[in-house]
Amino acid sequence: MSGCGGGPDPRTELVNPIPLQEFESLLQRGKTYQARALIEPFASPEQPNSIRGIARLGLGRCDLADKRYEDSLLHLDKARRLLPPGPDQAQARFHLGVAYLHKKSVMSALNHLEAAFAGVSDIDLKKRSAYLIVRTQDELGDPVSTLYREASAGSYYSEYSGIWSQPVPVVAQPPIETTPRETTPKPEARRLAPPPLRLLKRQQWNARPVRTSSVNPMSRPFRITVHHTADQESLSSISQSDPREYLKILQRHCQNNLDWGDLGYHFLISKDGRIWEGRPMKYQGAHAGNPTLNRGNIGVALIGNFDSTKPSTAQVRSLQNLLASLCDLYRIEPSKIFGHGDLKTTGCPGRHLSSILRELVRKLEKSNLSRRRDGFDSKSR
Ligand SMILES: [Zn+2]
Repeated sequence: MSGCGGGPDPRTELVNPIPLQEFESLLQRGKTYQARALIEPFASPEQPNSIRGIARLGLGRCDLADKRYEDSLLHLDKARRLLPPGPDQAQARFHLGVAYLHKKSVMSALNHLEAAFAGVSDIDLKKRSAYLIVRTQDELGDPVSTLYREASAGSYYSEYSGIWSQPVPVVAQPPIETTPRETTPKPEARRLAPPPLRLLKRQQWNARPVRTSSVNPMSRPFRITVHHTADQESLSSISQSDPREYLKILQRHCQNNLDWGDLGYHFLISKDGRIWEGRPMKYQGAHAGNPTLNRGNIGVALIGNFDSTKPSTAQVRSLQNLLASLCDLYRIEPSKIFGHGDLKTTGCPGRHLSSILRELVRKLEKSNLSRRRDGFDSKSR
């Protein structure tokens, strides 16, 4: 075991005895137990601080992967103190930022992520730091510096989407007191019951007012139509890095070039799974093709082109939640959920989303059935 030789390149991989490559490989493969066992000995007090710091960083990352956020914070904070200022310490701060985000300590998270962005040498980590900063500040409705905006442009990391998405709760208050015995849970029915919906309102993307002279009032909603936006390339990269900006551009286009009162869709779902309020529900949409088709028709668009790619997991989850909530709120039968192509001849919403939608409708119908069977809809609870 050699100490620091003081060579020209003091990168830890070269001078520290921890088998880092093996560790990374185990961690990547989700073998956190083995990864932890591999580096734990190096965290002991008789090791020099720099080695202990690296080991603590690794242990913190294992805990993060295992969703043990409290433990992960302890290790990572220790790592941050043990490591000298530099890329390794910045890496510890990056993971601290992620752990704090999971713990909903947003200010601490931003503080560490900004330090990480400034200090990490790894390009991927830099981009991830910027992405997490932008995504968090967007969520808070705070202004974002163009430095981070540019550094994260076009990036998207599905593994972080759980940080901001709502935990999908159990059925709207199941009748706990009437079921004292643990009955066999019906996971399907529970998972699919409408969760409370988190909707980003128009003011959160700085929408311009609806031009009320160019819209019609909405009649009772009795159907839902799902679309994809299939944007041109330049717009599609904006939609991923900055959904707010995308919505503003789209609204401007609809109002100025198409002479509509507002966006055509009532709801839009960005790649990160956030659901944005489009045209207010009190106005009839402009999405299905003509006024007859738009009557009583809620327009939902997933942002992207789903002929060429699949929607993200976060998008599909949000679509499922949104559809379930809308069906529940307006008493719409799942059989009244359409893909745009069901109503008129069009490739919309793309072949991938079309087949996913069919599957979602089937699930919703099934969950409706079992909820009825279980009496969730009856007054007798
Ligand atoms: Zn469409």
